[in-house]
Amino acid sequence: TMQDEPLLAVDSLSVSFDGFKAVDDLSFQINRGEIRVIIGPNGAGKTTVLDLICGRTKATSGSIRFEGRELTRMKEYDIVRAGVGRKFQTPSVYEDLTVFENLEISYPRGRGVFEALLFRRDRELTDCIRDIAEMIYLDQKIDEKAANLSHGQKQWLEIGMLLIQDPALLMLDEPVAGMTVNERVRTAELLQRIIQSRSVLVIEHDMGFVEKIAHQVTVLHQGRIISDGSMEHVKNDPKVVEVYLGH
Ligand code: ADP
Repeated sequence: TMQDEPLLAVDSLSVSFDGFKAVDDLSFQINRGEIRVIIGPNGAGKTTVLDLICGRTKATSGSIRFEGRELTRMKEYDIVRAGVGRKFQTPSVYEDLTVFENLEISYPRGRGVFEALLFRRDRELTDCIRDIAEMIYLDQKIDEKAANLSHGQKQWLEIGMLLIQDPALLMLDEPVAGMTVNERVRTAELLQRIIQSRSVLVIEHDMGFVEKIAHQVTVLHQGRIISDGSMEHVKNDPKVVEVYLGH
């Protein structure tokens, strides 16, 4: 059944920019309820992998299967609607709106700020927003303007803005960059709750954090996978040690 299949299956994926292979013959899978982390030196192709999955960059060859659908043939907007949420590295929240309003306008039925604010607030949506605010540690800040949040709290708010769209796969680019130690711990806990009903793909440099959250680690180097498996496995892989010590 579909429940037994991986949520995401990337197969022989490649992309070239003017003959330069940024991603070269990449294959990996993400199961339901799993966190996969992509690591690798700068320029390895990590961001390009997320760009390919969310449809921002078109693959030269290969396939990306997501819940039985082929994403390489779909438009970026349709991929979002199919259930792939992506958070970029720098938080982009509406600074002048409250936490509540930021979550409200991200609810998929509102297509923009004005449309969303025109909608009557029904009880169901309000409850959903409150649940998410609690999950992202911002229930005490729900009426606070986003401008008054810390950097880490803005990152959580942006994760909440994705969660309200109910993605089956959440992709996060360096989610704990610039966070305090305490915020990192709480982000790891947040991810544990998120994967009760979703899967997560993360790009991360903080190895302590990777060790804490990753079920599977993919190590990219010059667009290719040089190691893949548990953190324990890749950490002891001579090819990985060589790439990291060589830098
Ligand atoms: P990482 O995220 O691992 O640092 P990137 O995916 O950003 O690596 O980049 C991988 C390589 O692909 C880099 O050499 C980068 O310059 C190149 N690259 C990425 N996107 C483009 C693009 N749109 N056009 C040309 N080259 C690109």
